[in-house]
Amino acid sequence: MCGILGYTGDKQASDILLAGLARLEYRGYDSAGIAVLDNGAVKVVKNKGRLTALEEKIKSGYDVAGNCGIGHTRWATHGEPSDLNAHPLWSDDMSVVAVHNGIVENYREIKNMLANHGYAFYSQTDTEAAVKLIDFYYKQEKDPLKAITKAIKVIEGSYCFVLLFRDFPGEVWGVRKDNPLIAGQGEGESFLASDVSAILQYTRQVYYLDNMDIVQLKKGVVRFFDTDGYAKPKDITTVTWDAQAAEKGGFEHFMMKEIHEQARAVKDTFGSVFHSGKIDLKESGLTDETMKGISQIYIIACGSAYHVGAAAQYIIEDLAKIPVRIEMASEFRYRNMPLIKDALAVIISQSGETADTLAAMRLAKSHGIKTMAIVNVVGSTIAREADNVFYTLAGPEISVATTKAYSAQLIACYVLAMELARVKGTITPTYYENLIGELQSLPEKIDSILDESVRLEEIAGRFVNARNAF
Ligand code: GLU
Repeated sequence: MCGILGYTGDKQASDILLAGLARLEYRGYDSAGIAVLDNGAVKVVKNKGRLTALEEKIKSGYDVAGNCGIGHTRWATHGEPSDLNAHPLWSDDMSVVAVHNGIVENYREIKNMLANHGYAFYSQTDTEAAVKLIDFYYKQEKDPLKAITKAIKVIEGSYCFVLLFRDFPGEVWGVRKDNPLIAGQGEGESFLASDVSAILQYTRQVYYLDNMDIVQLKKGVVRFFDTDGYAKPKDITTVTWDAQAAEKGGFEHFMMKEIHEQARAVKDTFGSVFHSGKIDLKESGLTDETMKGISQIYIIACGSAYHVGAAAQYIIEDLAKIPVRIEMASEFRYRNMPLIKDALAVIISQSGETADTLAAMRLAKSHGIKTMAIVNVVGSTIAREADNVFYTLAGPEISVATTKAYSAQLIACYVLAMELARVKGTITPTYYENLIGELQSLPEKIDSILDESVRLEEIAGRFVNARNAF
């Protein structure tokens, strides 16, 4: 969901990658890394934290010489931010090295399948499963394109992969689905990037990849293939945006960009708990057993997350018939209210660091109440300390006024309400199925509403000067 880059040409790849990643910093990230392919050796440097820390690390004595490489800034979705979980990730013999933006939804199934073939895993990421799946096919086919086409028929979710194959010097490969990727063509050099702003200083000649396009870079050559491995012609475009507009994906400001990312945020959040036609909260740690015993819910949050809670209160009470109290975290922590032991405290926070919300959660825990955090930042304090965690997968939100994180939190609450209702038997299986269908159709509906920008502007124009709303 953050930054991704690939380069091949005559320059030092690390210079281009680090400069490009710096241009993508504004998107927010928790770790950064690069890999350079040089004379049959892959050199990887990565770490948790800022890009400057990566640069320092490289300066401290890492050899990253080479003219072909990939780079990444990570916003963790699976596995906490750490040096190990940072990208690039590799297959055990370094045949395949990759960076990834997005989510591999069926990574558990892939891991299980690969474990049966002797694969072991060193990180907690979903990405490693995909990298090793590509490696699995690569070992059979000895051909990057065939390995990629086979793997993407198995991988479910949203992704953009940029890859190096150790035995294919000077080549960078990429593929995308529901995550942005562009290819840039320069004089004797070529680029891949998640965002055009990262390469604008080198070229304005770019190709926009469609979903499921596969791309191969060689020095100054960009080729495309379809999912069956057939060559695919593509038109080159000259970018006229300036760097600032490019950062915002052509939108006027970040909030507008994030409004338009809502469909993806909702789809990813629901997709992360929806497997083989069923909602599955196993990963959050919340079991049917626990849900059965809950007789009261406290929703604890601040600011916009509190408003999500206010909506969730109606949804949970309506579907699951469990009494819900919505509590402002700052009040909850100082108020001395009688608390019911077999309650579930649902803690909502985008950052997972909201001070009052964290203190309120600790208070609830000290009363022996089970906690379920709905947070957007993997490995954040609230996520670490809560008994159960439901990650929203909205990606980093730059605008202060929340849009996509709010929508994703609301989806998490719907899912929770539906699961409580299923376990308690308060809704019929048919109604439950209908709700699943509705949740699945939401992303498309969101997009179709946003497509009506003229009408939306007209409506906004009517209310823009209102000081109060009722
Ligand atoms: N899902 C991957 C991870 O957690 C990629 C995250 C990203 O898009 O930065 O490592």
